[in-house]
This record gives sequence, C-alpha cells and structure tokens, in this order.
Amino acid sequence: VQEIDRLIEARWIIPIEPYGTVLEQHSIAVDRGRIVAILPREAALQRYSARTRDVLDHHVVTPGLVNLHTHAAMTLLRGCGDDLPLMQWLTTRIWPVEKALMGEDFVLAGSRLACGEMLRGGITCFNDMYFFPNATARAVQEYGMRACLGITVLEFPSAWAPDADAYLSRGLALRDDLVNEPLISFSLAPHAPYTVADPSFSRIATLAEQLQMPIHLHLHETQDEIREGVEHHGLRPIARMARLGLINPNLIAVHCVHLEPHELELFAHHGVTLAHCPSSNMKLGSGIAPIAEALKAGVSVGIGTDGAASNNRLDMLAEMRLAALLAKGSSGDATAFPAHRVLESATLTAARVLQLDDTIGSIVAGKSADLTAFDLSDHDLQPCFDVASHLVFVVGRESVSDVWIGGNSVVQKRQIVQDTARQAEAEGASALSLWQNRVKIQIGSLS
Ligand SMILES: [Zn+2]
Repeated sequence: VQEIDRLIEARWIIPIEPYGTVLEQHSIAVDRGRIVAILPREAALQRYSARTRDVLDHHVVTPGLVNLHTHAAMTLLRGCGDDLPLMQWLTTRIWPVEKALMGEDFVLAGSRLACGEMLRGGITCFNDMYFFPNATARAVQEYGMRACLGITVLEFPSAWAPDADAYLSRGLALRDDLVNEPLISFSLAPHAPYTVADPSFSRIATLAEQLQMPIHLHLHETQDEIREGVEHHGLRPIARMARLGLINPNLIAVHCVHLEPHELELFAHHGVTLAHCPSSNMKLGSGIAPIAEALKAGVSVGIGTDGAASNNRLDMLAEMRLAALLAKGSSGDATAFPAHRVLESATLTAARVLQLDDTIGSIVAGKSADLTAFDLSDHDLQPCFDVASHLVFVVGRESVSDVWIGGNSVVQKRQIVQDTARQAEAEGASALSLWQNRVKIQIGSLS
C-alpha cells in the first residue's frame, strides 16, 4: 500500500484526454500536488492509503476550467456602462473612469473580487490583460490560483506606464521578479489593433518568439474596428497582424466576431487560437463569432468571460452554454460544437495556447491536480443521462462544490477555505463600498 496525500473518489470523471471519455466510479490519486493515477475506486482503495479522502458520490470531476480572456480587476466596473456599443462604452465610460481611479489598490481590490468569483465558479486558471499586473499577481497568490498575466501594451499613458516601451519594460521586469512562482506565467498583451502602433507590434512579435510567450490580443471584435483599420492602414487588422508577424501559434486572438473564410484558413494554417467570449460580444452588440465555421476549418477555439464590465459575470459555465447554443443556432447545424468539444475548449485548448498543457488542461498522470467537482445531486438537475451534456446545458456554477489547485483544496462545499484567501476576501469586502462610491461619483460626473 502506497501512502499518498489525497484520493478523490467520484461518481464520474471527465478527463478530457482521451477525447470523449467519461469514467464512472473512479478515483484520482494525488501526491505532492500532482496526479499520480486515475483508476477504479475499489482498486484505488487497495493500492493507496491517502491522508485525505474526498468521497464525491454524486459528483463529476473535470480539470479546472481555464478562462481564456478576462480583465479581472474590472469587476469593480461591473454593470457601470450598460447598453452602449463598444467604442462609446470604452470612450465615454470605461476609459474615463479607469483614468480617474487607476492604481495598485484599485486593481488589487478588483482582482480579489474576481479571484473569489472565479474560484467558486470552478475556474482554476485565467488569462488576464490589465494595468498593474503586480496587484493582480498578489491577489492570485492570496487565493492560490493559477493565472497567465498579460504584459499589457498600449500607446497611450496610464497610471501604470507612460508609453509602449514602459508598458513592456515594467511588465517584463515583473515577469523576472515572479519567475519562481509556479502558479503565475505571463503573456505579451498588446491591447488591440486600434490602440497599438506597428513598431510595438513588431517588437512584441519578436519578443514572443525569443521568450516563447503567448500573445494576447483583442482582434476583429467589431465591424468598426475593421473599417477603421482599412482606412488607416489599408488592410484589415488580421492582414496587418500577418504582415507584422503576429499570426502564429503564440497568438490568442480574442473575439474574432467578424472573420472571412480566408481568415479562418489563415488561423487554421498558422495554429492561431481564438478566444471566444460570447456574452461580451452579445452584450456590446458586436455580433456572433463564426465558431461552427472556425471549428470546421480546424481553428482551435478556447472560451473566455471577458471582463465583468462587459459580461457582467465571470462565469465559464454560462459562456460554455451560450457558446454551444450560438454555434448551433447561428450555423443551423445542431451537431456543431458538441458538449465534449465545449469541455475541451474550456480546459485543454486554452491550456495549450497558454503553453501550460504539460501542467494543466486534462486529468492525466503527471499533471498538476487542478480540478473542479460539480455536485449533481440537486433536484433541478435530475435525471442525468449524459454527464458531459449536463455540464454544458444544465449545470450552473452554483453546482461547483470543490476546487483543487496544485493538489491544494481551495474551495470546499462552495466555501473558499485557504486562510490567505479568506483574509483577502474580508479585506476586499471592507474596501468594496469605498470603491463602489468612487466609481459612482465618476460616472455621475460623466453624465
Ligand atoms: Zn477584453
């Protein structure tokens, strides 16, 4: 009998690899943060003696969900500029309020709020883009979460950096500082084609190749963006990015609501991953990304919530359900984006483009034990014939019961359990009314 740290015994396990697999009455053996084996419950009890046993008789366990696009700290701006189209929303609400309030404490307070929301929603890793990533890093550490933090680049000044060079150098310095943090990695995050100039894009493409980093970019979000791109550069933004060397497997192309068939082919050919954020696209009236067509063309598709200012929840299960429905509804093909493919998008596909698939994204021996358990015993979830379809179409984030990251229990019975996270949550709660008032005053001064 082998001594191990933990045995997670579940009614169902969806390991994501091999594709389409559902294991019944299996256990996940975890030791020193890693998955040691996945085997039938009986056999596990014979082979292992675990210091902790999690007996989950009515639950399905999946890899932790990976939110492929968010702006965590924007939770503080949740619902502060609704019913406005993207450019108006950005220029008359988001940017002025951010300009007035931006700072390390704003980002810390917002990121704490986001980490708690995401963890309780079964998200173990998120791909972020925002100012003061040092503050987001602190929240991530407090909550014991995993994150890929964007080294955001814009041409215009903010409280975080005066110009594109400074955004890059400050971000890269933070990356050096945190190089030994196992749960934190970095991407290069040029904000968008309309906020970043050609020389910065070229530099980012070179850096991404030299440092083997993902590039995290809003791209083809609206028709206006494309029209403006053609006016200023004589090219659609994707063609411009191709010329600047950004269309490659490092690229996480966020939104891509408007794509022509040749652009889908280009993405498929060069291994670009699309980060699909359906709620944000719907809410800002941007349109419906052609996901059924993208999958058919062989493009990798991950799923993101976007920030709470344009969603307004950081809820991956809601995005997964909407993504499946929109792909089917808009293509007229009910077989488009099947449940197992949606689950893979929300885990392994995202892990791959974040260059974390050696560590997370599927339940495989040797990977980190980043796992989410959903309790399916609730009355409103009965009966269940197909647990994968249940996760996409029936289960909501309130069914997330337990979450583990690196083998550590971070959520138990829907409660955040780690001391540092509870402390951060308490501090966050007491700072919240202050921030809410500040945002309110700013919005008042704008209208
Ligand atoms: Zn975004």
